[in-house]
Amino acid sequence: MAKTALITGSTSGIGLGIAKAFAQLDYNIIINGLGSEEQINETINELKSQTKGEVIYDAANMLKPDEIEAMIKNEQDKFGVIDVLVNNAGIQHVSKIEDFPTEKWDAIIAINLTSAFHTIKHSIEKMAAQKFGRIINLASAHGLVASPFKSAYVAAKHGVVGLTKTIALEHAKDGVTVNAICPGYVRTPLVEAQLADQAKTRGITEEEVINNVMLVAQPTKQFITVEQLGAFCVFLASDSASQINGAILSMDGGWTAQ
Ligand code: NAD
Repeated sequence: MAKTALITGSTSGIGLGIAKAFAQLDYNIIINGLGSEEQINETINELKSQTKGEVIYDAANMLKPDEIEAMIKNEQDKFGVIDVLVNNAGIQHVSKIEDFPTEKWDAIIAINLTSAFHTIKHSIEKMAAQKFGRIINLASAHGLVASPFKSAYVAAKHGVVGLTKTIALEHAKDGVTVNAICPGYVRTPLVEAQLADQAKTRGITEEEVINNVMLVAQPTKQFITVEQLGAFCVFLASDSASQINGAILSMDGGWTAQ
């Protein structure tokens, strides 16, 4: 029977890249995230052309615990167990702490950290019961090190690292692994949006943000690709990765080796 993967925040960027990687293995795919009806339908059709499994869109807002719980329950009713859960939804806001809007802090912590608590809480028992489950949390190099002006994001991603390690211990004997991937800069809509913000905050051009801020710490001087992240998730979901548990795995071109 086809396995099922649920990827939060998969209507664009990294999440969509991960969804495509699992679609190519004929998983049932549950995508989630924001976007226009037209964009989402296009994405569903693209994924359907890549998998023999089903493709479902769930509109649950990662700010809302009751919607997250309903999403997990609905998909469990449909597919039995969510075999692979990828907590990927995330937002960013770049600002000095003294100007940081409180509502942005709350939203970043809710979407980037607390939503993963809820998805895991409601899906892990069924994974443990079937003695197989894979939980992959998209943290960030900012789950390991900080950069100025990203207080909420860095706090949330460090939180994701702690959550990952803790849950990895709780069901280690049940065939359920919980790992975090810490990417460096991946050129996605989230990074595109930061370019303008960073340029404004720092008073430099967008080109200078790319060369002197974003990739300055990334020794390879290249952005990571969503395809590389998709392939990494597929490996973590495989039987070969069954002893990788509670690991905080960098894919950052050497950024955090420094
Ligand atoms: P993106 O903006 O392209 O995608 C974010 C996804 O989250 C979208 O599908 C969006 O609709 C969804 N989302 C946002 N708010 C939501 C909400 N309230 N409810 C449901 N879905 C919501 O961003 P991305 O760059 O692909 O980032 C994906 C993840 O990877 C994030 O957790 C991000 O922090 C992390 N990450 C990104 C980079 C990078 O350089 N792009 C680096 C390290 C980590």
